[in-house]
Amino acid sequence: MGVTLFAMGGTISMAGADRLDGAALTAAVPGLDTLAEPLDIRDLEPIGSGSLTFERVLSLAAAAAEAVRAGSPGVVITQGTDTLEETAFLLDLVWSWDAPLVVTGAMRNPTLAGHDGPANLLAAARVAESRDGRGLGVLVAFNDEIHAARFVRKTHATSTATFVSPDAGPIGHLVEDRVRVLTHPPRRRVLPVPVRSARVALYTVTLDDDPGTLAAVAEGQDGLVVAGFGVGHVPAVLVPTLGELATRMPVVLTSRTGGGSVLRNTYHQPGAEIDLLGRGLVDGGFVHPYKARVLLKVLLGDGATWSGDQVAAAFAQFG
Ligand code: ASP
Repeated sequence: MGVTLFAMGGTISMAGADRLDGAALTAAVPGLDTLAEPLDIRDLEPIGSGSLTFERVLSLAAAAAEAVRAGSPGVVITQGTDTLEETAFLLDLVWSWDAPLVVTGAMRNPTLAGHDGPANLLAAARVAESRDGRGLGVLVAFNDEIHAARFVRKTHATSTATFVSPDAGPIGHLVEDRVRVLTHPPRRRVLPVPVRSARVALYTVTLDDDPGTLAAVAEGQDGLVVAGFGVGHVPAVLVPTLGELATRMPVVLTSRTGGGSVLRNTYHQPGAEIDLLGRGLVDGGFVHPYKARVLLKVLLGDGATWSGDQVAAAFAQFG
């Protein structure tokens, strides 16, 4: 049995107003015939990645698991790139199999010179069928690089080199027809599939911010992720509101910079990390704000009531 390909929408399949189905997509890929077995193609309802939902991604995770249970050595998902850093991480949180689950897409559509879809699809399929890709959780194969879902980010609106892992670098590369894994991400913790849709907002602090805006965003939420300045700081004027929110819901502190970790024990001033953690905010560590929101939604979606300490313990395993 070959690698299973779930073909969704996105630029990789957008030929003008038409959409390439899985068969047309794979027909345009030289080198796919060098795979050990032909791809087992499953066409999904096309959808722009910006309209994907947790429900849809989790049902895709279940379908991918079913393919592996049936004997597939690995799975490839093609989708739009816009939310790929979030969908790949969500899949990774619930993917308990050794078999690789590899997500890819394209930045240039099939009508453009230098369409990157075929190379990305071939790379993803090679990783999905390789022994070296096993046990690494969900991976992103793009631009001849292999990234761990946990670290990968979309960092450029148009570049074919948009996917990078600012904190960890790629864990491997495609070299000629070989999959070269150079480093292994830390051991993952697989979480239960959420049984309810928790409401988690992301609030990015900005210059001359306003507590009223923060309070409005947090209204009715089950949890909040704050993307703070630099090492995890907020304007002092937001501190009372954040402290009050942290008594009612988990509030996770992350950095809006997109690289590096928030600190725990360096700055004391109002709105700095020592002040905020002392008021019950959770240390998000290295977890990027977008991924922190995914993680908090999955945690709170298990139906239990989570204390701040429990959320902090869970984040410590990822951050
Ligand atoms: N807007 C598209 C999407 O994410 C971009 C892409 O496919 O890369 O669905």
